[in-house]
Amino acid sequence: MAGIDAAFADVVDQFADVLTEALCPPGESTSGGELARLCAAPSTVGSDDDRILAMMVGLARVLNLSTTALSQVAEVAERAGTRRRKRLKSPVELLKQLGVVPALAQRLVRVGQAARQMPGLMSRARVGGVPIEQADAVARGISFVQKRVPLDDESLADLVRRLSSQATPKDVDNRARELAIEWAPEIDETDPDAVPVAENPDLNEMTLVTGQDGRTIVSLDTDALSGEELSQALDPLCKPIPQPDGTPDPRSASQRRADAHAQIIRDYLAGRDRPTVSGGVLPHVTLIVPIAQASAETGAAQESSRVASLGFTGPVSASTVGLVVCEAAMRRVVMDADSAPMDVGREHRLVTAGLRKALEARDRGCAFPGCGRPVSWTDAHHCTPWSEGGDTAIDNCVLLCRMHHTVIHQTGWEVFIGHDRHPWFRPPLDPDHPKRFREPIRSNARRTMTLEPTAAA
Ligand SMILES: [Zn+2]
Ligand SMILES: [Zn+2]
Repeated sequence: MAGIDAAFADVVDQFADVLTEALCPPGESTSGGELARLCAAPSTVGSDDDRILAMMVGLARVLNLSTTALSQVAEVAERAGTRRRKRLKSPVELLKQLGVVPALAQRLVRVGQAARQMPGLMSRARVGGVPIEQADAVARGISFVQKRVPLDDESLADLVRRLSSQATPKDVDNRARELAIEWAPEIDETDPDAVPVAENPDLNEMTLVTGQDGRTIVSLDTDALSGEELSQALDPLCKPIPQPDGTPDPRSASQRRADAHAQIIRDYLAGRDRPTVSGGVLPHVTLIVPIAQASAETGAAQESSRVASLGFTGPVSASTVGLVVCEAAMRRVVMDADSAPMDVGREHRLVTAGLRKALEARDRGCAFPGCGRPVSWTDAHHCTPWSEGGDTAIDNCVLLCRMHHTVIHQTGWEVFIGHDRHPWFRPPLDPDHPKRFREPIRSNARRTMTLEPTAAA
């Protein structure tokens, strides 16, 4: 057995070496460089389509084969206990440690686990005929149907056959959903334990994926009761809010729902009764701030980032950093040039309870003209940023809901405390009339809208 494993590992190594050689530019390798040469001078390939296509077909097969093999070896590693000995919390973590991207790591693990349930598909996969995405779709389809319909060996084999004959992963997903409905057992009304699908929390699923562009995509499949609670929580927060000039809320229903969801999450994060992370800290947001001066003195060639990052979702622009540091019980981690954390601590210029009360009495909710969201929804914004010497004081702070706080940080709107010691808002420059005076608008608290700064009393 050990001999076979060693031979397998040797062949894999040799194959990787051959590919590396082929990709190495001439001069950097001793004997290879063929592929690199072709890429540098495609004209030398001539119009030998057959040869080019044969190379592509072969490599596509190798791609399928290596992902299939990796999914199988990942399953072997799990059963052999390799992952536990490495003290990693999941098989996906083990693959990620090896440099496999998270989405692929999850696919590989799912296919490895489901391989025994789909022997027919795997026999095609073992000759390189099945892309890992397709095998994964079938694996997911099996688990989807299995959760909803009791399957014996025969119907499982039938299911795998039906799913495997689909052309694309999307088709597999749709077929699995159709079969789950077609095959769903009749609910036995006399069985007190029978749970209708709509009400079965065992089927609940939520995925949370941050893409390459830094946006996070959430999908949620939940039972009727949890769905009802979600709608109850979101509904009052989804109401349209008119613009300062009285025009209707420009946000679509789905934008308002997304804003409402974000509001609920912030309320939750602001609460005290939630599980803490290490050290009893309750961070709203983890911001990783690199030290501006990278390793200039050491002359280290290593690329080091000057862009701040959020803990889960990655790099963000300066305007978002400004919003985060403006007011958040935020956990900030400062990185040194070697990306080692130097200082982990809470920001210390938070608004005190007394100041917060005074702001609530003055602004009575989001101060942005026409908004009026309640005080419990608001952040205290520093008109002059704390980092630029602005005080955490009543004459430098204003309550803004998150939507309008974002507007202030990310667009041309400005807010200042007027001589009446109330907030005033200055709209962005009109690009058609760049010289026109930007009339300030009163805060929301005075209710009536006016352009007359002295009208406040
Ligand atoms: Zn702010
Ligand atoms: Zn607002």
